[in-house]
Amino acid sequence: MNNTLRTLLLIGFAAALAACTAAEPSAPAGSPPADATTAVVAQTDAPAAAALPLPACERPTAPNALGPYYTPNTPERASLLEPGTEGERLVITGYVLDAACEPIPGAWLDFWQADANGKYDNSGYTLRGHQFTDATGRYTLETVLPGRYPGRTRHIHVAAQAPGGEPFVTQIYFPDEPANDRDGLYLPELELSYQTPGDLGSAVFHFILDTP
Ligand code: FE
Repeated sequence: MNNTLRTLLLIGFAAALAACTAAEPSAPAGSPPADATTAVVAQTDAPAAAALPLPACERPTAPNALGPYYTPNTPERASLLEPGTEGERLVITGYVLDAACEPIPGAWLDFWQADANGKYDNSGYTLRGHQFTDATGRYTLETVLPGRYPGRTRHIHVAAQAPGGEPFVTQIYFPDEPANDRDGLYLPELELSYQTPGDLGSAVFHFILDTP
């Protein structure tokens, strides 16, 4: 990303941050974790990219709030798992496409999320990382199921940008979450799906950017 685009992104993020801070409260210190889990996720090799059909593109992916916990300059990595990462392993794959439904190689994707206990790392880069789509316009993210925290249903934040395009920010949600309907930011169209029902290792989410 060049400096101009980085500046645009940060300006946009600052504006969205101001607008969205109230919508995404942080967990009070000392509060019990909403999704406490003690399972440590085994680290694996890079996620395998099994064949995935291209989607039909009905409309661009909806934007969603940046929230207050974005940190720039994340490490480039497709797996956010580190030694000792706790939680349920989650693999999300999909394409980044343009408005004509053509895959976009080299699109930038920056992911950040709460850990399995609903906590963000706001001083380091735990569960934060960026990557670029491959030559087919596809990405694969390996991570853990994010925990819920007060005021929010389960979600993963994403910033995306096509080469030479405008920055785009949204969130990915999970189907069948009881807290979805109580979350003012949740949109059904931003739910991921599963290639194998109930298999967190088979999640799919496509980004359709409103770019030529
Ligand atoms: Fe969040």
